Amino acid sequence: MTLSTTGSQALFDRAREVIPGGVNSPVRAFRGVGGVPRFIASAEGAWLTDVDGNRYVDLVCSWGPMILGHAHPEVLEAVRSAAAHGFSFGTPSENEVALAEEIVARVEPVEQVRLVSSGTEATMSALRLARGATGRSVVVKFAGCYHGHVDALLAQAGSGVATFALPDSAGVPASAAGETIVLPYNDLAAVEELFAARGSEIAAVITEASPGNMGVVPPAPGFTQGLRSITAAHGALLISDEVMTGFRASRSGWYGHETGPAGAHPGGYEGGAPDLFTFGKVMGGGFPAAAFGGRADLMAHLAPDGPVYQAGTLSGNPVATAAGLATLRGCTEELYPRLEGTARAIADAASAALTAEGVAHTVQWAGSMFSIFFRDGAVTSFADAQAQDTAAYGRFFHAMLEAGVHLPPSAFEVWFVSDAIDEDALETIRAALPAAARAAAAG
Ligand code: PMP
Repeated sequence: MTLSTTGSQALFDRAREVIPGGVNSPVRAFRGVGGVPRFIASAEGAWLTDVDGNRYVDLVCSWGPMILGHAHPEVLEAVRSAAAHGFSFGTPSENEVALAEEIVARVEPVEQVRLVSSGTEATMSALRLARGATGRSVVVKFAGCYHGHVDALLAQAGSGVATFALPDSAGVPASAAGETIVLPYNDLAAVEELFAARGSEIAAVITEASPGNMGVVPPAPGFTQGLRSITAAHGALLISDEVMTGFRASRSGWYGHETGPAGAHPGGYEGGAPDLFTFGKVMGGGFPAAAFGGRADLMAHLAPDGPVYQAGTLSGNPVATAAGLATLRGCTEELYPRLEGTARAIADAASAALTAEGVAHTVQWAGSMFSIFFRDGAVTSFADAQAQDTAAYGRFFHAMLEAGVHLPPSAFEVWFVSDAIDEDALETIRAALPAAARAAAAG
């Protein structure tokens, strides 16, 4: 260990006194990889600077939102200007309308959205709406998909739940978990079988549009189409969770995504549009803003027009919506091929370094989202994702960190790229890889 982490260590010690585990979101604690999480003092463009003055190329991007890079000048200006006009009004304001219009214009089946403050709130509210609109209570989710820490959706979830190898969470009442059925991802036969037995009880199937919380596991050809036709045949709703893929897989999210960089997997929804969508991350530009939306006839079930209650003191916050709007305006058609090119350069270099050291690995893609599983062979389900060498990933992660590259501190997460990654940042990544691959191999 050559980098000084004295400042981060001291803050982590202080944090653990007053914050459980020292962090406000579990994966940040580095439990999946060991060691001291870096306390970041500032971030600009592609780089994070920690409290000890170490600089890292950021391949986490706040877990997705920072698609344009940190402190992007146009977003910063929008935030400054909004903040100068006040922080929160508790009454409607124009930016909320503009952000809703921007989302509706980008994702064709979405006629209306309700703005909320986190992805968790978005999926929780979409579920309530689905249950309210159908009058049914059972919800189907897939193993390895993470939809936030909603009681009913924590069973066999990805992200931190996967990192800590938890089957689900304590504190979720049996009554909430009992209404959730978990099926293996990409297994249409299991969905068909369930609907044949219990179709009339099922309010909704919720799925990540293209899962990223068990690592990147895109839907197999025909899977999403099958979900659409089965749910429609049984009067259940299909909820596409685009919190991660929204405005990242393409300017319209996974919905508008045609093929990956290798042309290897189908995107979009060839079988017809989902009923409801959830969004977050990119649409908040690094601020707390998220949304759920869909057809106007469904959204009409929400209060104040309908009986499904949903609300928020800070929903549609004027500063958050300004940041989100400025970020989405930077998410042009031209951005995505650029991001995919950057992602491809990083993944190719990482794969070559791992191959040179004989480290088993598989790279999987969804637009510019990719992850590297430390195992051989295609990963199509959570069970496949779990069968990887997480210890090798931990060694790889730490060697990269030591050389100035901040990867996600878990083998089950996406490597997020930003538009700010330039040749200098790429060179830092390339230079870090050979030693990291050697560390991974040295198990
Ligand atoms: N859905 C998906 C697909 C996500 O990736 C996440 C967050 N990683 C969420 C929901 C929850 O969002 P938040 O953390 O903003 O509550």
